[in-house]
Amino acid sequence: MTAVLHPHPAAALAAPSRPLAAPAFLRRIWRPATDLAVDLGTANTLVVVQGEGLVLDEPTVAAVGPGGEVLGAGLDAKRMIGRAPAGVRVIRPLKDGVIADFSVAEQLLRTFLRRVLDRHLIRMKPSVLVCVPSCITDVERRAVRDAARSAGAKRLRTVDEPVAAAIGAGLPVNEPSGSLVVDVGGGTTDVAVLSLGSVVCDASIRTGGDAMDQAIVQFLRKHYNLLVGDATAERVKLALGSAAPFEVEQTLPVRGRDLISGLPRTVTVESVGVRDAMHEPVQRIVNAVRRVLEATPPELSRDLVDRGIVLTGGGAMIRGLDALLTYETGLPVRVDLDPLTSVVRGTGMILGEPGRWADVLAA
Ligand code: ADP
Ligand code: MG
Repeated sequence: MTAVLHPHPAAALAAPSRPLAAPAFLRRIWRPATDLAVDLGTANTLVVVQGEGLVLDEPTVAAVGPGGEVLGAGLDAKRMIGRAPAGVRVIRPLKDGVIADFSVAEQLLRTFLRRVLDRHLIRMKPSVLVCVPSCITDVERRAVRDAARSAGAKRLRTVDEPVAAAIGAGLPVNEPSGSLVVDVGGGTTDVAVLSLGSVVCDASIRTGGDAMDQAIVQFLRKHYNLLVGDATAERVKLALGSAAPFEVEQTLPVRGRDLISGLPRTVTVESVGVRDAMHEPVQRIVNAVRRVLEATPPELSRDLVDRGIVLTGGGAMIRGLDALLTYETGLPVRVDLDPLTSVVRGTGMILGEPGRWADVLAA
């Protein structure tokens, strides 16, 4: 079931908020980028520059040399996963939703911020708004702050990720009525009920798209004696992954290494098997949503019957996840129009109207 819950603020990524006479490319070069919104996700990092829109969208992946120095960042590094030369490690420094490798995270963030700022002739230290998972500890929050500061930020503020996701998805977060947002990222899934600009109850689990990729690696190994890397498993998930049956089930040829002969082999994988393999991580997400619903105060629960659930994050695009959640909760479920950018769009909207969103900003 799909419910249209609120108009979609697609305009957040569109043209500058203040019309200027100069053409866009001149404006970009001359006008310094002073306000940045950053979604430092476990899988992808996105940056919105106030007045310009989305300017960076790269995997949160670094290729690290023997001395710990970052040799490649983003897409270039992701292409090296499973294929890096000796001495080079390909690292995802935010594997479980928080900074697991501080030095690499900081260098990666610095590389990305530099890429954004180098597009301008006039450079200033920007003021940065970063969103962080709501389950983050004070120590972890400080790590994000320190990374951004040493990456060149002048002023750093943070905002809870579910709040940013909900704003990006067009939910009336500032109103005294409940909204439920489920953000399925790479390393984590965040479920939160929001009212009056803050999180009323939430759950954050370290299960997201990565756990599904791992489940597919195990499935191929067990059922086909086929060894594949994470990148291949992700491709299988994108092509065949689902949380509910298809009208017509599908197949896909998958290449890997035969566990017995040690030689390359291609097998034909069926969508039914992939769905079974993903069942456990998908069920953990469903259970997290149920737990949050059970803990929601009754008045806000009532609002959710009409408003339903909004799904954001890349994992929101798993086919049938919306239908499964509707089946399990009885609530209408809507997938945000562009779930990979909901969080950064919301963060950008907070930057654009700081007065309106003052309550959602952490100090
Ligand atoms: P994060 O916020 O943790 O960086 P994202 O919101 O960027 O995560 O989502 C990344 C996850 O979404 C990855 O696990 C990726 O495989 C998954 N993903 C991206 N597109 C799709 C899709 N079309 N179907 C299913 N999963 C997807
Ligand atoms: Mg995210």
